[in-house]
Amino acid sequence: MNRIEEADLGDLIRTSGFYKFGATRLPLDEAYLSYFSSWISQGNHADMQWLEKNYRARRSGTAVLPNARSVLVLLAPSSPRNPAECPPKPSGPGEMRIADFALGVDYHNVLRAAAEPIAQRLREVFPLSLWRICIDSAPLFERAAAFASGLGFIGRNSMLIDPDSPYGSRFYIVCIIGTADLKIDRYMEAEWIVDKQKRHCGDCRLCIDSCPGGALSFGQMFDACRCVSYMTIEKRGEMTPEEHERAGDRLFGCDTCQDVCPYNAIAPITPFLDLRENVRTKAYVPANAFDASKMTRGEFRRQFSDSSLWRAGITKLRKRTEFFRKKK
Ligand code: SF4
Ligand code: SF4
Repeated sequence: MNRIEEADLGDLIRTSGFYKFGATRLPLDEAYLSYFSSWISQGNHADMQWLEKNYRARRSGTAVLPNARSVLVLLAPSSPRNPAECPPKPSGPGEMRIADFALGVDYHNVLRAAAEPIAQRLREVFPLSLWRICIDSAPLFERAAAFASGLGFIGRNSMLIDPDSPYGSRFYIVCIIGTADLKIDRYMEAEWIVDKQKRHCGDCRLCIDSCPGGALSFGQMFDACRCVSYMTIEKRGEMTPEEHERAGDRLFGCDTCQDVCPYNAIAPITPFLDLRENVRTKAYVPANAFDASKMTRGEFRRQFSDSSLWRAGITKLRKRTEFFRKKK
């Protein structure tokens, strides 16, 4: 029995709301870095220059924690509603959709709080070691760490998918990096990414054919420049008229490549109550919901300052809704 099992970490992880976990050593294979380097050098990351920063250290996690040696990877169910209600439908014409991850409280806050007792237990089990929680924003190949830990395969929609559970890709990945060695039961080499995708995606191409931006293609890298999620959330400058057209009724983000994936058909609702639909907003809102006559900046702050919608800012949301209404 290793020290993690002795510490009943598995029980603590599950009672904290995470449904599955794995661990892997750091640094990750050089091949994970090569893949990311090619993706960056081809300009697939659009104007997200922060992805270039420290990108070599993403393999080792050392920009987060010098002397990092291992990472515990946790999967937190993310679906904000029951499977029978997926995908959500508008209640009337002219409504616009907000991506699932933005319907509740900002998941970074919720999951950091849930993971902190686990990080604390690791600090106790491995005295003198350091452990840090990473959720999306740290320079670390989190998806690659989850793959290397044997938690799933990377689908043609570029998401990590767990084929052995009903959750599909409806989860958030939370990493806890540490300076101690965790016992590693299995390690997936980067070269298995392609094989595993072929085996589990098979002949399916639903995500490729449904992608409104044309960001996905067979055997090619995901092109963030053409992804509606990037355009409506991350893009620094104005969206072009063509990008507005491609976005359709999507106001903030895009869930299409997850909505159509068969692996997600029966994903259970998240146990994290703060991440559920309607905690901050419903999925479809009237296209005038953010107009000055309906919501002042102060009201936007009160309702959304702890939500992922806050990142976009009300000005960006208003521009998107204005374009959508003019096209109607
Ligand atoms: S989020 Fe939307 S636009 Fe981006 S890859 Fe998925 S389906 Fe395509
Ligand atoms: S929709 Fe089909 S091709 Fe795309 S990730 Fe899911 S199983 Fe793979």
